[in-house]
Amino acid sequence: MEAKIKHNWTVDEILDIYNKPLIELIYEAATVHRQYHNPREVQMSTLISVKTGGCPEDCAYCPQSARYQTKIQRNDLMSVDEVRELAQKAKEGGSSRVCMGAAWRNVRDNEEFDNVLEMVRTVREMDMEVCCTLGMLTESQAKRLADAGLYAYNHNVDTSEDYYKEIISTRGYEDRFKTIENTRKAGLTVCSGGIIGMGESVEDRAKMLLALAALNPHPESVPINALVPVEGTPLDEQEIVPVWDVVRMIATARIVLPDSTIRLSAGRTQMSKEGQALCFMAGAGSIFSGDKLLTTPNPSENEDAELFALLGLQPTKPYKKGDKPQIKETYKEKPLNAEKPKWSRPGHTIERNKEKYAKK
Ligand code: SF4
Repeated sequence: MEAKIKHNWTVDEILDIYNKPLIELIYEAATVHRQYHNPREVQMSTLISVKTGGCPEDCAYCPQSARYQTKIQRNDLMSVDEVRELAQKAKEGGSSRVCMGAAWRNVRDNEEFDNVLEMVRTVREMDMEVCCTLGMLTESQAKRLADAGLYAYNHNVDTSEDYYKEIISTRGYEDRFKTIENTRKAGLTVCSGGIIGMGESVEDRAKMLLALAALNPHPESVPINALVPVEGTPLDEQEIVPVWDVVRMIATARIVLPDSTIRLSAGRTQMSKEGQALCFMAGAGSIFSGDKLLTTPNPSENEDAELFALLGLQPTKPYKKGDKPQIKETYKEKPLNAEKPKWSRPGHTIERNKEKYAKK
């Protein structure tokens, strides 16, 4: 029987799936995967950090936050030419999607955003799916990105609403959904997932999937990241999440969100080839290629090519989940009366974030 697309999962139902005997869970997830996806195809995506570090937010997992002392190299916004070059290399390496990330709290209607719009247009003209992750976004900004040829916007919910308060104090959980709503209104596809291994409970993981599944339609793309603890961040002493948890999370996401592309994202260098193979069996349909994922390490292109050959996988072609966006010159028009959003700033105290902040 075909798995149904459902928006009213309960936490208990999701926990029952997550806690199944692993062998049963992988079999069930693999079965659902075959109903909606080609199990031999895995999309290769490339993440380009177009502006690195110096972010005002206090996300406890992130080395790009200006509040923590980490060893990352800060970089101002790249030029369009630099992005073109990196995107070309990504394409030659087999990537069909480029995700551009900027360490911003939210997008501003300024010259830097105009440059990002040019980057989007440039990569779209290279016939790759273009995704951006730029922080919180208004509807008119989402519309301009769509007009420039953007295919997807990434905005992760990170974790459950309860645990989110232990991770970030500078922006509210509800703002995540407002940005996702703005993305949808502009006709973009949605990429939203989270991170495991931050000290959250299994129930938090189930609640995160519940929140994503409540979205109608489901996000087309759901990245599952395993925390890569980075020195200087509040989560730097967190133990590496066991590979079995990653497999369980991917399999559960696969069953709860049958039509979405589940992306095995950060944390692959912490996993063996066998562990990654189990993730593909459990329904992961995408990886990030290139030796860096924003600022954390990632397997090399050669290692991935070997893994694909070993497992009989092939890279997915672009635009599987929506039409190729048309470029409309209106992306150049700045909105005259742009909405002034009131993004929240909860400002509660998170002890471990405060401690690291004080050390800076
Ligand atoms: S995750 Fe994004 S918003 Fe949070 S500190 Fe890092 S760059 Fe900033």
